[in-house]
Amino acid sequence: MPVSTLAADQSVRAPLPVLGRDVTVPLVTGGEVTYAALDYAASAPALQRVWDDVAAYAPYYGSVHRGAGYLSQLSTDLFENARRTVAAFLDCRGTDQVVFTRSTTDSLNLLAAALPDGCEVFVFETEHHAALLPWRGARVTCLDAPSSPRQAVETLERALADRDPSPSSRLRSNRGGPSGPALVCVTGASNVTGELWPVRELAAAAHAHGARIVLDAAQLAPHHPVSVRDLDVDWVAFSGHKLYAPFGSGVLAGRADWLREAEPYLAGGGASRRVTRRTDGGVDVEWHDGAARHEAGSPNVIGAHAIASACGALTEAGFDTLLAREEHLIRTVREGLADVPEVRFLSLFGDDAPRVGVLSFVVEGWNSSHFAAALSAEYGIGVRDGLFCAHPLVRTLLGGDPRSQGECGAPEAAPGEKSLNAVRVSFGAGT
Ligand code: PLP
Repeated sequence: MPVSTLAADQSVRAPLPVLGRDVTVPLVTGGEVTYAALDYAASAPALQRVWDDVAAYAPYYGSVHRGAGYLSQLSTDLFENARRTVAAFLDCRGTDQVVFTRSTTDSLNLLAAALPDGCEVFVFETEHHAALLPWRGARVTCLDAPSSPRQAVETLERALADRDPSPSSRLRSNRGGPSGPALVCVTGASNVTGELWPVRELAAAAHAHGARIVLDAAQLAPHHPVSVRDLDVDWVAFSGHKLYAPFGSGVLAGRADWLREAEPYLAGGGASRRVTRRTDGGVDVEWHDGAARHEAGSPNVIGAHAIASACGALTEAGFDTLLAREEHLIRTVREGLADVPEVRFLSLFGDDAPRVGVLSFVVEGWNSSHFAAALSAEYGIGVRDGLFCAHPLVRTLLGGDPRSQGECGAPEAAPGEKSLNAVRVSFGAGT
């Protein structure tokens, strides 16, 4: 088997330089090779430009929003410029807010904490756990995995129609909804199959039924342009560390109203406008209205600056160039594995469905963890194995029951038996 074809094809230069491309690793078979990082979907290495921008700023680090001194002002400017850069990168509406968080998980938990009373949440079982699990206080409807983008839209339509009190309500799009508030959470690109989801159509369906929609763009934003206006989504969440800016920052961008009306996600300095001691010994607080309401404490200015730098670099490189390179790499992997009958690629919408640079497969008769370990030890190729924090989806794709309680780890598949976990190869701008 030509396993070496799994390594990045060096015949075309990577569109953007990243850190760590020259790392050499020892092989169990002796000697060493240049490490091939094919796990961008987990965490992408920092772009060289992001690293340079962070290093240029680091000596001047100061406290944001809390000082008249030069370094404090510089940091405040960088932080607020980063907010504007992210808003432009996501093509936000003028009234949208950009809140800096720690990650996509943090962003979606923030939104979950800001849901209005009685909000219903609709989410496909195919979601990453970060999108599936945060909605603990709400009534959650978990939708079956669709087998096509069209079926995804129909499934959502049906579920939302079931909550409408009358057919005429479908025509209203007041986004509060005749049946109370509702939120749809959907991924833009699957972290397991890489497949693109029909976000614009799902947003239209949500709005037609008075629901709102949040886009989990953790895997989409690093590979694909995301326009809040064009997709007409209400919020977008993504992580810096998957967007070549691994400095502990993430983003929740979108409509201000639910965020403004919610209790602050964290209570503390920065989120509070005025705090007064009451005569009865208690404390009264007036919270900020804007993004600061949910950014209590000293913010991660380096993380925000790094995200802004990555947004600039990706925009300049052009997503067409980045996607063309990823398509080339996906073809290389598929062709390299085409003559291995034991390999089965995982997809919901079909092997030829549009996707970002993420591919998962099983090698029948192999434990995927052993397979991934062998790629690393014998070939210096780093991939991910397991259920990818999307247990119901991977079980469905492996032909099992998404409701079963299989192991999260990597049980052995006996020869001839179905695999119980999968291998994931993922590419990015530095591959
Ligand atoms: N959503 C998707 C589709 C992901 O792939 C991931 C991470 O793998 C997340 C959400 C969670 O991202 P983070 O771990 O940065 O919060």
